[in-house]
Amino acid sequence: LKPKSLNFLEEIVQADLAAGKYPQGIFTRFPPEPNGYLHIGHAKSICLNFGLAKEFGGKTNLRFDDTNPITEETEYVESIKKDVAWLGFSWANELYTSDYFETLYQYAVQLIEKSLAYVDDSTAEEIAAQKGTPTTPGVSSPFRNRSVEENVDLFQRMRAGEFPDGAKVLRAKIDMAHPNMHMRDPLMYRIRHVEHHRTGNAWCIYPMYDFAHGQSDSMEGITHSICTLEFDVHRPLYDWFIEKLEIFPTHQYEFARLNLSHTVMSKRKLLQLVNEKIVHGWDDPRMPTISGLRRRGFTPASIQNFCERIGVAKRDNLIDISLLEFCIREDLNKSANRYMAVLDPVKLVITNYPEGQTEDLWIENNPEDESTGKRSVPFSRELYIEREDFMVDPPKKFFRLGPGLSVRLKGAYIIQCESFEVNEDGSVKEIHATYIPESKSGQDTSGIHVKGTIHWVSIPHAEVAEVRLFDRLLIVEDASELGDDFMKFINPESFQVLEKVFVEPALREAQVEKAVQFMRKGYFCLDKDTKDGHLVFNRTVTLKDTWAK
Ligand code: ATP
Ligand code: MG
Ligand code: MG
Repeated sequence: LKPKSLNFLEEIVQADLAAGKYPQGIFTRFPPEPNGYLHIGHAKSICLNFGLAKEFGGKTNLRFDDTNPITEETEYVESIKKDVAWLGFSWANELYTSDYFETLYQYAVQLIEKSLAYVDDSTAEEIAAQKGTPTTPGVSSPFRNRSVEENVDLFQRMRAGEFPDGAKVLRAKIDMAHPNMHMRDPLMYRIRHVEHHRTGNAWCIYPMYDFAHGQSDSMEGITHSICTLEFDVHRPLYDWFIEKLEIFPTHQYEFARLNLSHTVMSKRKLLQLVNEKIVHGWDDPRMPTISGLRRRGFTPASIQNFCERIGVAKRDNLIDISLLEFCIREDLNKSANRYMAVLDPVKLVITNYPEGQTEDLWIENNPEDESTGKRSVPFSRELYIEREDFMVDPPKKFFRLGPGLSVRLKGAYIIQCESFEVNEDGSVKEIHATYIPESKSGQDTSGIHVKGTIHWVSIPHAEVAEVRLFDRLLIVEDASELGDDFMKFINPESFQVLEKVFVEPALREAQVEKAVQFMRKGYFCLDKDTKDGHLVFNRTVTLKDTWAK
């Protein structure tokens, strides 16, 4: 669904196009650093960048911003490509900042030659001290006035590997009293004798984000470089490099990053959850990662819809995770077929139904979509029903089963409870009922009306499944101010396993990640851990929002 009014980025693009600024069309990019799996915040950025290009007839690059060899891996590159494609987007070019290392190096030399960059031997601590504070000017490094020749020579030798890590850096020569701290001679290059996931050992100096990003945008002819709000203070530096290098003038625009309640979203923190085994990997269904959401049963449409609904803001805010759940419910209500599964079983015997007899009932797959047809569901004398659908001493408005009460079995017959047996611990062991043969669904001539309908599974036909239930990862709503303390707020009940759930036989055909509805219980999907006939289902979401704040 299109929003009624344009967001501020759409307005900018529309105005630029109307002014004839980009006759070739607009170009955006999605620039992940391959240091982790993508999360729902990235999905927001993906939908925005690819969405803008799609809307205005432009193109989008997928650029891996791989300038930090310490944290980057090819496994992450592969997962990112898979996730972007799964979300439904195709990129014009697959690019890597590391492919620009030579050009970036030449750019740096150009700046040195213009006396706009210098090699500094100061330590990280000394440089931090030189920078001063936002209210006091900084002081010049003692190496600030090295000659162009000396700088060119030292920078070449940095590249050649003559100096150890940290011995020297390359800094832009801007203004040590600039009101914007990022303009006080920021770092451009640092020495890192580390193997890079793509360039191997070809380089031992690596460009900083601020020097790499804008220049990469420019090389690709990006017209609208969209990033999150915290980069607005970097924009003067972004513009300074482009101006001094006299290269294609790309422009940076900032929007508010997505913050979601009850979870964390920085890759570093998500990696910590993985490494400390709080979750079972990046694609654990509790994770806010794209791969976790996919495994949990989320659809690309639901995530796109969510990103559309939250809109594009210029101020940070916190979105409640229940909105994401609302979006998946809305989608699955239309698209997921219904099945019967009994999560907490108790045995029900229909005493007047012939022993050994089986009957195939035809039940509609999805009342929201007639084209999905019907499936056959076996019915017999012995069934499982949910334990909570029977009460020994039911209150007045309990329209399910209890001594003397009647209820309809979904797609089958009306039954009346005659008696029940209890276990030694007092729990109900078995319920006995009689059925009314004339009350069969679709051809009911019994004239009897009951208020409730419950689901069931035929015992001799049932398949046993493991069902995994998930809840909020954190017990706090807003973890953004917690820093590393977020680990103290992990929800101990975020993961629960039901070992013996009974499902109707049609669910043997369930497909991994394809959502189904377990009637009255929620949306579920088959998990990849399913093997050798051992079915494992993940609960995507309950039918209604049950989270108590
Ligand atoms: P994180 O550490 O949370 O993964 P990041 O910004 O370091 O965030 P990148 O791989 O650099 O991760 O991000 C790629 C793109 O996705 C960037 O343009 C970034 O601004 C955007 N992005 C990252 N997190 C969010 C978020 N929560 N909401 C919106 N966009 C985001
Ligand atoms: Mg980043
Ligand atoms: Mg990061």
